[in-house]
Amino acid sequence: MSTTTIRKKPNKVLLLDRSTCISCAGCVGTCPDLALDMFGLDLQVFQDKCTYCTICVRFCPVGALSIEKREPRPEDNAYQTPKTAADFLHRAPA
Ligand code: SF4
Ligand code: SF4
Repeated sequence: MSTTTIRKKPNKVLLLDRSTCISCAGCVGTCPDLALDMFGLDLQVFQDKCTYCTICVRFCPVGALSIEKREPRPEDNAYQTPKTAADFLHRAPA
């Protein structure tokens, strides 16, 4: 007989404020569930791996991460594709 375990996710989402994030990458190493990764200077959040433990939220030196109680929406970080170097040109100093 086989059993299937269905992991019920909490009704939460980990949000990244990209205008505040300084791309220090420090939070990536704090996550025990590998739910954060850097693509160039762009932090990506993988909601499917996140357990909303708040470690990264408390670590971030600029308060760029927060947890909200609601279902993830398509516009949330989890669904953004990694950016290329060209995408960062708008951030470059004039
Ligand atoms: S809340 Fe916890 S599990 Fe989710 S990304 Fe941050 S450190 Fe990882
Ligand atoms: S610790 Fe904060 S500032 Fe650094 S990469 Fe993570 S979210 Fe961005």
